[in-house]
Amino acid sequence: MEKLEKFLRYVRIDTQSDDTTGTTPSTEKQKDLGCLLVEELLELGLKDAHMDEWGNVYGHLPGKGSRIGVNAHMDTALEVTGANVRPHLIRNYLGGTIKLANGLEFSPNEFPELNKHIGHDLVVTDGNTLLGADDKAGIAIIMNALQYFHDNPKVKHSNISVCFTVDEEIGEGPLHFDYKKMNAKYAYTIDGAHIDVIENENFNAYGAKLTFTGVSIHPGEGKDKLVNALNLASEFISLLPKETPFESEGKQGFYHLNSIEGNSEVANLQMIIRDFKDKGMDKRIEVIKSTVNKVLENHPSAKIDVSFKKQYVNMKKFVDKKPIAVRRAKWALKKNGIEPIMGAIRGGTDGATFSKNGLATPNLGTGSYNHHGRYEFLDKQEFEKMIDVVIDILKSK
Ligand SMILES: [Zn+2]
Repeated sequence: MEKLEKFLRYVRIDTQSDDTTGTTPSTEKQKDLGCLLVEELLELGLKDAHMDEWGNVYGHLPGKGSRIGVNAHMDTALEVTGANVRPHLIRNYLGGTIKLANGLEFSPNEFPELNKHIGHDLVVTDGNTLLGADDKAGIAIIMNALQYFHDNPKVKHSNISVCFTVDEEIGEGPLHFDYKKMNAKYAYTIDGAHIDVIENENFNAYGAKLTFTGVSIHPGEGKDKLVNALNLASEFISLLPKETPFESEGKQGFYHLNSIEGNSEVANLQMIIRDFKDKGMDKRIEVIKSTVNKVLENHPSAKIDVSFKKQYVNMKKFVDKKPIAVRRAKWALKKNGIEPIMGAIRGGTDGATFSKNGLATPNLGTGSYNHHGRYEFLDKQEFEKMIDVVIDILKSK
């Protein structure tokens, strides 16, 4: 029970981030959890534990051998509130529908995955909030591993660097990350779901902004002159390949429209582009440019501006440079009776940016599922198994 206590303590603190404030941390309340974690790290013997001006928490535990980093993020997702989280423990889940306190329910019909958790204890929400296991389960796994080394001083461990970051959910986790302070040879984010999966790949990601400028004339006299910016935008959309998130899975990339706003004179369109391969991404950017040209050919008096912004890159080639990171995780999983599977994240991770900047950081699972929503849950047995895995990763001879 004690191991789960840490998790339950962390999820009760509201740490939802906010992509509109423009500050770091994006919400002051993330520091509430940060302060608590600093206190607990100090108690566990990480004498230099502290929070920096950006709200990131660091601490080091001296040991023997290579310095290994562990990271989890303190903020929770924007989709559903993280205030007043009231976790409920279902002991020995027998299968079937799970009824949440507010009347919502979910079952293996919608989430067939649930059947894999029969016989385990599950922590669920009361239906009014998300759970925040993404990523407080990761934090609790790290804190429990440190607790183990504190309680078992004879067990030797590596030099350990710990960092808990703010604002991962708004893509700004690495913004003020201090690599020198972390000072690790390689690291792990503990921010995934399935505990048998080691993720060493993620999307390449670009954002694109398009501004369509038409020709504005009184509609009554528009014949052969009026060019409607909204029609330009919709023509552009209709000419794009049918490769949206709806049509893609696995290692397939996509084009995804985020927003379109404007009027007949000017319309702004925002979209994201995802592809696992560098060449695939180059091709998608070319497709957007050539689609713009097609629209311009059809409407020579229109104007279309397009700009691209790199968001993050696939970490695989960077993680591959430090094969020890994946090798050690595989070894620790196997030692705990889990057959590891290599996985690719259909999204991003702080580890992608860490890896690109020289700190190889694959991602490990937490035993929590349905992130970012009211049906989020944690499998207690899997969570505890992951604590053992992380302890083994950090042990030394
Ligand atoms: Zn996360």
